[in-house]
Amino acid sequence: MSVTSVAAYAAPAPKAPLERTTVPRRALGAHDILIEIKYAGICHSDIHQVRDGWGEGIYPMVPGHEIAGVVTEVGPAVTRFAVGDRAGVGCFVDSCRECAYCLDGQEQFCTQGMTGTYNARGKDGEPTYGGYSTHLVVDEHYSVRIPDALGLDVAAPLLCAGITLYSPLRHWQAGPGKKVAIVGLGGLGHMGVKIAAALGAEVTVLSQSLRKQEDGLRLGASHYYATSDEATFSELAGTFDLVVSTVSAPLDLDAYLGLLKVDGALVNVGAPEEPVSLNLFSVIGGRKTLAGSMIGGIAETQEMLDFCAEHGLGSEIEVIRADQINEAYERVVSSDVRYRFVIDTSTI
Ligand code: NAP
Ligand code: ZN
Repeated sequence: MSVTSVAAYAAPAPKAPLERTTVPRRALGAHDILIEIKYAGICHSDIHQVRDGWGEGIYPMVPGHEIAGVVTEVGPAVTRFAVGDRAGVGCFVDSCRECAYCLDGQEQFCTQGMTGTYNARGKDGEPTYGGYSTHLVVDEHYSVRIPDALGLDVAAPLLCAGITLYSPLRHWQAGPGKKVAIVGLGGLGHMGVKIAAALGAEVTVLSQSLRKQEDGLRLGASHYYATSDEATFSELAGTFDLVVSTVSAPLDLDAYLGLLKVDGALVNVGAPEEPVSLNLFSVIGGRKTLAGSMIGGIAETQEMLDFCAEHGLGSEIEVIRADQINEAYERVVSSDVRYRFVIDTSTI
């Protein structure tokens, strides 16, 4: 094991701008692989956490859970990866490996709590540091293979944005004959449009404005509406089998539940910093489901990558240098991202 201290970008304190620093990486264990990170996506969750919007942040914080790179060293017991393989890491790097959910490939719901790729503590008690860095050491079980058909840059965002939409779209059976709405055309939302369309569903984008309409239709949507226009909610009342919200701010749940057919589901994947409330009559009438969903397990993440490779579904990205991260954060917060910022980690 040659790497012990690696270059990274970190927020030294809550809400502080990110700056260049170094962080430790553990010595390579028997089951570990060393990944030379090539690209790291910027997820809105990074911003929530850097700014301590969800609380209990661990600083300095190196964000990044959309990681794509190349394996440069493997531990003696590693069986799934060889030096030179393309590898990805998403939102978690460990879990208990024993509970019913871990054994079922739903490690994200581990009863002991998954170990986040950053802003968490590993079993050794040490803080974890994410993908805004040059190298990562990870147990091979928590890494996935990036198919050759996908560039590493456009694949990186799939590790969170891709799986976070693929999992609920599959679970709630988006497909032919189903009308699916995606709320918010950002990092998650644009992958939701691509994946739902590839699954065969009829896709509608619900965005704050019509600013990105052309893009939405190009990405696979058949319809596009502005939620700032109140007529949208009356026109689309009772339309959808499935509405997936990716909005990072509190949502008017009653309004969106009103868009569902009988037995339809509103699945919220956005993770706003404040609680929301609803009128329960919004679900009683129409036997509707209000649900949430969180990323996906390792096996499903691999399935998603293979699906995206087969259908040519990379993320729409803007590659940035590490010294542009703080500026990119401001643009994400103001919904000015088309559709994922990806850091070229060679600039760290
Ligand atoms: P993003 O790129 O900022 O996209 C969010 C989109 O929501 C924006 O582009 C915007 O789309 C819309 N939006 C933003 N503010 C809004 C407001 N006040 N009212 C209405 N619409 C608004 O963020 P992201 O990376 O896709 O992440 C979205 C959310 O999902 C974040 O809260 C993130 O933490 C969470 N997340 C959850 C999971 C999970 O496992 N559940 C995984 C990853 C991320 P328009 O301009 O089209 O309106
Ligand atoms: Zn994320």
